[in-house]
Amino acid sequence: MARDPRYDVLFEPLQIGPVTAPNRFYQVPHCTGMGYHRPQMLAAMRGIKAEGGWGVVCTEYCSIHASSDESPYPSASLRDDDDVSNMRLMTEAVHAQGALAGVELWYGGRSSANLDSREVSLDVASLPNAATLGIPIQSQAMSQADIHNFRNMYRDAARRAMAAGFDIVYVYANHEYLLHNFLNPYYNQRRDEYGGSVENRVRLLREVIEDVSEIVAERCAVAVRYSMPIQLDDDPQGLIECFQQIAELPDLWDITVNDYQYEMGSSRFVKETAYQAAVVKVRSMTTKPVVSVGRFTSPDTMLSQIANGTQDFIGAARPSIADPFLPQKIDQGRIEDIRECIGCNICYAHDSLGVPIRCTQNPTMGEEWRRGWHPDRIEPRHADESVLIVGAGAAGLEAACALGQRGYEVILAEAEQELGGRITLESRLPGMIEYARVRDWRQGQLARMANVQIYPENRLDVDAILELESQHIILATGARWRSDGVGRWSNHAFNGCEKDNVIGVDQVLKGVEAEGHVVIYDDDHYYHGSTIALKLSASGLKVTMVTPETALCAWTRHTEEQSLTMRALIEAGIEIITARGLTAWEGGTARFECIFSGRETEIVADYLIPISARIPRDELWVELESRRDSFESRGILSLQQIGDCRAPGIIAAAVYAGHKAARELGQNEISVKRDRVVV
Ligand code: ADP
Ligand code: SF4
Repeated sequence: MARDPRYDVLFEPLQIGPVTAPNRFYQVPHCTGMGYHRPQMLAAMRGIKAEGGWGVVCTEYCSIHASSDESPYPSASLRDDDDVSNMRLMTEAVHAQGALAGVELWYGGRSSANLDSREVSLDVASLPNAATLGIPIQSQAMSQADIHNFRNMYRDAARRAMAAGFDIVYVYANHEYLLHNFLNPYYNQRRDEYGGSVENRVRLLREVIEDVSEIVAERCAVAVRYSMPIQLDDDPQGLIECFQQIAELPDLWDITVNDYQYEMGSSRFVKETAYQAAVVKVRSMTTKPVVSVGRFTSPDTMLSQIANGTQDFIGAARPSIADPFLPQKIDQGRIEDIRECIGCNICYAHDSLGVPIRCTQNPTMGEEWRRGWHPDRIEPRHADESVLIVGAGAAGLEAACALGQRGYEVILAEAEQELGGRITLESRLPGMIEYARVRDWRQGQLARMANVQIYPENRLDVDAILELESQHIILATGARWRSDGVGRWSNHAFNGCEKDNVIGVDQVLKGVEAEGHVVIYDDDHYYHGSTIALKLSASGLKVTMVTPETALCAWTRHTEEQSLTMRALIEAGIEIITARGLTAWEGGTARFECIFSGRETEIVADYLIPISARIPRDELWVELESRRDSFESRGILSLQQIGDCRAPGIIAAAVYAGHKAARELGQNEISVKRDRVVV
């Protein structure tokens, strides 16, 4: 198919200082959890993005010195010449596809705790450490000599960036790292020429931009990553005034906003193009090209960003993770093939856990080098064989898609009328609508595969499965929620769990009629508790949330959802009680004990909804296993279970399991490379 000419403008080459981007698709710097630990994995992943059509592909934050070390999170690194060869792997992979490679040179200041290097962090002042782990240390206030050395660090790193083959070199001036902190009068109360007036606070950033420009002159473009206030009329840091001072200095501005929960907003709370006003403001203040993100997944939105002059490039981090081939799909007129990011932030969550990112929508993310998985291509079938998949949730749908793409004859049987399993149910909860994209993209792909037959409203039992005589059987039957409170905090059911008015999560998801006061006991700590609470509160119930954790929805801290979740719960008038474990339900009174002291409390309520663990729906598996003897005579070659029926987890894990099962079908040897630096 050919490209719709309306989108031609997205494919225009564009100059950035001395270099020219082949098109307007710009993968901005984004974390990967790979960094210096996994240089080959990283290079392959960035190379795939370039292959998928991103005209500019950048690194994640790239340390310039041992005193900028955010361990256990592995940044990229250009601290010394050995790093140059690691980073060259990436630039070569990107250049091989005709794209430009950008590097985000980074100095952490108070935000890097230097847990690995054990160096002291330097910053504008002696400030408490702001790393995610909340380390009880402070930075050292930089002396004039330190500032001089710091400028040399940047210069040296810029030299190494050139040696590694980068085309765009970033000065990183946001996210409360050192250069940002100099701009901020709240932190910067220096009395020397680097503090006080706007001109003084901008001085160090100006000097570093000039230093880097001098080093890379005529070879590389200089970009600055900078944040604007999310509300333009509320700018206590004077970021707009600071920007005015240096608006024409770099070759490109990469703009974000000064609030990470909006910049990296979860789709539950932040939608596409969320901070356009800030970008428009910047665009009006500089003649230099501007790039920014906005979780753009719709080509028409991209087009309007260019047409209305908001920005010059289409910046993307998450959309490029969910679909590394997004630009190529627009180019080839395959719009319906674009796998849209759902804004779940599972990618970011794993970076924040110090491991390689993964993606709910794109199971190949991070596996490009290690397993040799390509996001748009897959090995053809190994033999003319048939596959039965039981269950069309995330795992079953993904397995059917990938097996269908490989060319197998596939039967996909689903008990319910609607496909999607838990996604379909959960996407009806407040704010969760974009999660349905996981189902919709796969359903769309399957609709065009003649070799995949889908049978909704078909709950299969073991006899029906055996009678179908497919050569491979994949069980993807999901899991059911427990309603007895067994979970992380307790291995025992609470007293009275069988009594009336204990409502299970599955019942709530399918729709439950209730009124009065409900207590939600959340020992799951992800989004289930808060989304159910918001739904019930919106339908008029009084809601109290109780958790045995010391903070509610504790795991959503990793997905950058926690504080917006808390705000939404508080604004909805939901009462929140922490550090209480559920011990009993007396049909109108819920009893709890303090997790520290054991002191008992009670809440009188009409209903109790316990959200704790899930039970794998593995009955079919158990029975089929017991009948393995009959497989040979029936021509059955393999049986496996995938997704939540094997081990309940996040949706990303189910999609991954489905993809893995499909990739590995018929493979005798599975090779998984290990990335490590070998001396
Ligand atoms: P996962 O996340 O592992 O994909 P889900 O719970 O989302 O799990 O999906 C499992 C799907 O399997 C559900 O849609 C459920 O209706 C379906 N299912 C469960 N048992 C059967 C069965 N015996 N026959 C057909 N479909 C089934
Ligand atoms: Fe988007 Fe979620 Fe994938 Fe991240 S993990 S890119 S937020 S779909």
